[in-house]
Amino acid sequence: MPPGSVALGWTSSALPSTATTWSRTTTTRGRSQSTRAGASRSSRPRAESPGRVASRLTAERWRRTRSSSLPAQRAAIPPIPGLEEAGYWTNREATAISELPSSAVFIGGGVVSVELAQFLARFGVRCAIVDPSLAAREDPAVGERLSQILEDDGIRLEIGPRAEAVRTEGTERVVSLDNGGQVRAEVLVVAVGRRPRTQGFGLETVGIQPGPRGIQVDDYCRAGDGVWAIGDCTGTAQFTHVAKYQGRIAASDICGRPVKADYRAVPRVLFTEPEIASVGLTETDAREQDIDAVSAVIDLPTTIARPYTYEENPHGTFAVIADRDRGVLVGAWALAPLAGEWIHQAVLAIRAEIPLSVLRDTIQQFPTFAEAFGLALRQLPDEDMLVGIDHCAHPMIEGQRVEVR
Ligand SMILES: Cc1cc2nc3c(=O)[nH]c(=O)nc-3n(C[C@H](O)[C@H](O)[C@H](O)COP(=O)(O)OP(=O)(O)OC[C@H]3O[C@@H](n4cnc5c(N)ncnc54)[C@H](O)[C@@H]3O)c2cc1C
Repeated sequence: MPPGSVALGWTSSALPSTATTWSRTTTTRGRSQSTRAGASRSSRPRAESPGRVASRLTAERWRRTRSSSLPAQRAAIPPIPGLEEAGYWTNREATAISELPSSAVFIGGGVVSVELAQFLARFGVRCAIVDPSLAAREDPAVGERLSQILEDDGIRLEIGPRAEAVRTEGTERVVSLDNGGQVRAEVLVVAVGRRPRTQGFGLETVGIQPGPRGIQVDDYCRAGDGVWAIGDCTGTAQFTHVAKYQGRIAASDICGRPVKADYRAVPRVLFTEPEIASVGLTETDAREQDIDAVSAVIDLPTTIARPYTYEENPHGTFAVIADRDRGVLVGAWALAPLAGEWIHQAVLAIRAEIPLSVLRDTIQQFPTFAEAFGLALRQLPDEDMLVGIDHCAHPMIEGQRVEVR
C-alpha cells in the first residue's frame, strides 16, 4: 500500500484481491465561462479505489473510521444541443464568483436557481429563469406566490416552455425555447437538479448496484453487508439536515442501537426573501394517499400583528393540511419572514402526531409568527376537530381574511 493510502473500514472479503488504483478525472468541459471559481482542493481524505483512501491522516487514525459514507451528487446536465459549445455555469461556478455578470439565464427553476437568481437580481444582474414549472412539488399556491416574489425583483420568468437549444451570439448565450421564444444573457446557469455520484468507487465489489436515484438504503441506512449510505447519494431528499439525520440513524445502527428513519416531517425551505417553508404533504399528495385531507390558508398581514414589525406593506401566507380521520396535522407551508424558523412548530406536530385538539389549545406568544399556527388550525372546517375556537388572533386586528377549503 503506498504511503498516504489506508484501507476503509469495509469488510476484508469485500476488498478487491488486487489493489487497483483509479483516478477520477474532473472534467471542465463546457465550463469555459470566466469565473473566479476553483477553490483550492481540500487536503481531506479522498476515496481513490475500493478500500483505498488517499489521506494525509495517519493510517492508524483513519482505521478508526468505521462507517462507509460516500460522496454525494453532481449537477445534472441536460442534453440540450449547443450547451457544451456555448459554455455554462453550474451552482459551483455561480456561487464562487467575484465579479458580477451583466445578465444570467437559469435553465431550471428549482431551489438553486430561484435563490441564486434573486440574489443576483438584487445586485443588479438581469436574470431570467426557464422551467416548465415552478415549485412543482409544492402546493400550486406556493408557485403562484413565488412567481410574484421573483417578478417583483425584476426576474423574467419563462415558466411553461423548455429550453431546446443554446447558441452563442457575440458575448451572449441565446437559449431557444420550445414555444418559439428565446432568452439571452451573458452567462448561462444550468440547474436542473443533481445526480448521485456513485460510479467509479467500486461499489459493485461490496455488493451494491446503485440505481439512477442513488444507493438504495433501508430504514436504518443500511446499503449492504457492513455498508451504510447517508446523504444525497441515497436519493432520499437532497438536504443537509436529511444527511445529518441519516448520519445519526446509521451511527445508531452501527453502534447496535437500530432506530428506524422517519421522513414524514422533513422541512423544505426556499431561502428567498421572504422565505418559503414547507413540511409534510401538500393537500394533493395527501388525497393521493387516500387521506381525508382538509386545509386552511390564512393571510398573515390581516390576521396577525407580527408582519408589521418587518415590513411597511407586509404580505405572507400560512397554510395547514390536516388528516380529518386521525385528527392530526400532515402538512403545512408558509411564506413570510423567518418562515424557515417558525415552520418547526408544524414539523414537530407532524413528527409527533400531536392531536389537533392539543395544538389548538396551545398558547402562542403575541405578537409572533407562531400565532399564525394556532389561528390556521382553528380555521379547519370540522366541528368535531374544533376546540376553543378563537376567530381573531388579537382584538386589535380587525377584518381578518381567512380562506377555508
Ligand atoms: C447551491 C446549493 C445550495 C444548497 N442549499 C441547501 C440549504 O440551504 N439547505 C440544505 O439543507 N441543503 C442545501 N443544499 C443541499 C446540500 O448541500 C446537500 O443535501 C448536502 O450537502 C448533502 O450532504 P452529503 O454529505 O450527502 O454530501 P456533500 O455535502 O456533497 O458531501 C460529500 C463530501 O464528499 C467529499 N468527497 C467527494 N469525493 C470524495 C472522495 N473520492 N473521497 C472522499 N470524499 C469525497 C466531498 O468533498 C464532500 O465533502 C444545497 C445544495 C446546493 C448545490
